[in-house]
Amino acid sequence: MTAEEVLAHIMQAGGRVIADPARPRVIVPLALKSLVLAHKAALRALVLQSNEVADPPPQTETREYAFPWPSALTGLGPHAVGPFDICSECSGWSWVRYGHTVLCLTCARHHLREGQSGREG
Ligand SMILES: [Zn+2]
Repeated sequence: MTAEEVLAHIMQAGGRVIADPARPRVIVPLALKSLVLAHKAALRALVLQSNEVADPPPQTETREYAFPWPSALTGLGPHAVGPFDICSECSGWSWVRYGHTVLCLTCARHHLREGQSGREG
């Protein structure tokens, strides 16, 4: 999910954007706080962008765009945000899914480690 899509989702839920160049922020319903936190940096950039016409910064960093969420999981699919739903692997709840599999952050990171097949250590 791109920052634009996250923002659209927030607007649909009754949120609004304060495009203050000094302190850009997004007013969101409490239920969407976790979604906003997951996309904080991207949303901030988007709010600033909408306030001034500028080229997007070059994506040279290798850091996961959805940090701390993995941007994709092997065997499941890319990171996406959807309706708040129960994690497919534990009793936690999450906005995030990989492909069609809803995962909480703990389980997503667990999958990421498994997918890396012991590259750590
Ligand atoms: Zn879980």
